[in-house]
Amino acid sequence: MEIHGFQKTTLLDYPEHIASTIFLGGCNFRCPFCHNASLVLSPANQPTIPEEEIFKTLRKRVGIIEGICITGGEPTLYPGLVSFIHKIKELGYLVKLDTNGNNPHIIKELTKNGYLDYIAMDIKNSREKYSLSCGIDSFDISRVNESVFYLLSNPVDYEFRTTVVREHHTKRDIQHIGEWIQGAKAYYLQSYKDSDDMIQTGLGSPTKQELLEYKDVLSSYVQNVSIRGID
Ligand code: SF4
Repeated sequence: MEIHGFQKTTLLDYPEHIASTIFLGGCNFRCPFCHNASLVLSPANQPTIPEEEIFKTLRKRVGIIEGICITGGEPTLYPGLVSFIHKIKELGYLVKLDTNGNNPHIIKELTKNGYLDYIAMDIKNSREKYSLSCGIDSFDISRVNESVFYLLSNPVDYEFRTTVVREHHTKRDIQHIGEWIQGAKAYYLQSYKDSDDMIQTGLGSPTKQELLEYKDVLSSYVQNVSIRGID
């Protein structure tokens, strides 16, 4: 596993749990609003942390940390992910996976083995505008769609989430997302935030008023809709 980052303690990444976060490099998407460009575009140039060092720390922190978040980049690209998570589970930790949903077979394998306790899956945009927001021309939505419908069948606790970008999302897109994920348990709207490591610069955030309107639209389709990243 190419581990490029390790945050020992976070209260933000795993809902309702004290967690650590492990960052893996590489991604099969090129979302213009991605704020981890170096990890996505040139992971080989980023420093790595030996897996054994991570496990040494995880073994010491059993009982202090409750959960481990695996994020990226896109973690499901790693052939070794299943055995890596298995080793974490053997230490007794909860595991949360962040994913773009484009590898449903890995999500299913991990879930069926009982290796995941929580999945946070990105919904980049309405299906019609997925190419724009995942940064891949003529994107084939079928595998993302498969992951959406798998999670809607409640195999494990999960959330869907969308980073809302002024230039990408309209009220109509948000409505289409709602229709798509109708019946979902939890959905988070995250306001786009600029960083110094973006794939594309010059994008903007929605206003608080727009986010509240979008939340209202989605509440007709999803049980729990929340907004992250506004005061
Ligand atoms: S936002 Fe996520 S899915 Fe998109 S390019 Fe970045 S790491 Fe990949």
